[in-house]
Amino acid sequence: MSQNTSEHDILAAADPEISLLVDQEFDRQMTTLQLIASENFVSRAVLAASGTVLTNKYSEGYPGRRYYGGNQVIDQVEDIARDRLCELFGAEHANVQPHAGANANLAAYMALINPGDTVLAMRLDHGGHLTHGSPANVTSKVWRFVDYGLTPANDEGTGERIDMDQVRDRALAERPKLIVAGATAYSRTIDAKDFRVIADEVGALLMFDAAHPAGLIAGGVHPSPVGIADVVTFTTHKTLRGPRGGAILTTAALAKKIDSAIFPGLQGGPLEHAIAAKAVAFKEALQPSFKDYAAAIVANAKVLASSLGAEGFRLVAGGTDNHIVLVDLRTFDPELTGKEAQEVLDLAGITCNRNTIPDDPRSPFVTSGLRFGTPAMTTTGMGAAEMVKVASLIARTLRSRSDEAAVAAVRAEVAELCSSFQPYGDL
Ligand SMILES: *Cc1c(COP(=O)(O)O)cnc(C)c1O
Repeated sequence: MSQNTSEHDILAAADPEISLLVDQEFDRQMTTLQLIASENFVSRAVLAASGTVLTNKYSEGYPGRRYYGGNQVIDQVEDIARDRLCELFGAEHANVQPHAGANANLAAYMALINPGDTVLAMRLDHGGHLTHGSPANVTSKVWRFVDYGLTPANDEGTGERIDMDQVRDRALAERPKLIVAGATAYSRTIDAKDFRVIADEVGALLMFDAAHPAGLIAGGVHPSPVGIADVVTFTTHKTLRGPRGGAILTTAALAKKIDSAIFPGLQGGPLEHAIAAKAVAFKEALQPSFKDYAAAIVANAKVLASSLGAEGFRLVAGGTDNHIVLVDLRTFDPELTGKEAQEVLDLAGITCNRNTIPDDPRSPFVTSGLRFGTPAMTTTGMGAAEMVKVASLIARTLRSRSDEAAVAAVRAEVAELCSSFQPYGDL
């Protein structure tokens, strides 16, 4: 099965090889637990908008200022997407063209600073993102990144928070042109206001990378960086539950710089089918029910975290305020690596990713941690009871990881659980 029966049949007839793989992936998503913190299930309306003839159209430029003809309809689509996004976040200007969160970040750097300028961002091994200056990423080759990290873990669970004293010390010492707030594996609230004070003190611009919490901010359960940070970048496909892609919010004053950085600075023609799907997702996020969804994501994460804690895993940062639960495996089993845990959980139908924990003694390829997230399973309607169950399935799998039959038994229970929580109903 795929998006709908007629399109499924057309694809199956034209390209059975790809069609079969789409069917297999659909099956995988419907019968296993999706606990990757950056994933979600889009609505059927978002899926439908993604698969439209808008993919055929070249529309380099922006509404009203395109380089090709025939954009009368496309302009309306992109205008609606931009207007809805501004309404959703109370922003002055939106750019909905970034193909991905990484592109949004690159464009923000291009718009705000010059090559060689210093940027202060979160350490990768403490939860920062590749585009925050990883040696393997182009960002580190164009700009000079310096970093801040987390406070050390402590027994009270009040450690492993962003060390704001360190942010200020590093900012005073390095005098960055830009400070980046935001992370990819951090389970606590990040408040732009705390960073703004420091940015103002050192005369730096502030960028807030809301790739992960965008939906929580839109749903009103996390503080908004809009109106505080100079630029807010995010992905549309994580907690915001839209199609794969990125977006940027900024002030009227910076609008032209941001737009020029995306096109012609970084990208060619925008993906208008994706922009239409973004518009549909933004409309969904504007509904009152999205607030309930955002609150449920966090409530589920809190239950998942406490249940995993009760199973013997140490919770990095002592718990969660958002959709992410990061666990340190060493208290559960000092021999167990993130890599091995991820692999056996995959066999049990529990999809998650290994993750470094702060100051991880193991390599980023092996790791001592696992990252879980609740956005996708919350979309399917799972609640507290299911989170308790999921935590026990995770612990059971890892305890009996060398016992094939035990892992297979979990796999069957997972399929049974998923059968009651189908995001696409009878698709
Ligand atoms: C996911 C993520 C991105 C990049 O998004 P892509 O769409 O994968 O390019 C950027 N920043 C942070 C903090 C992220 O978590």
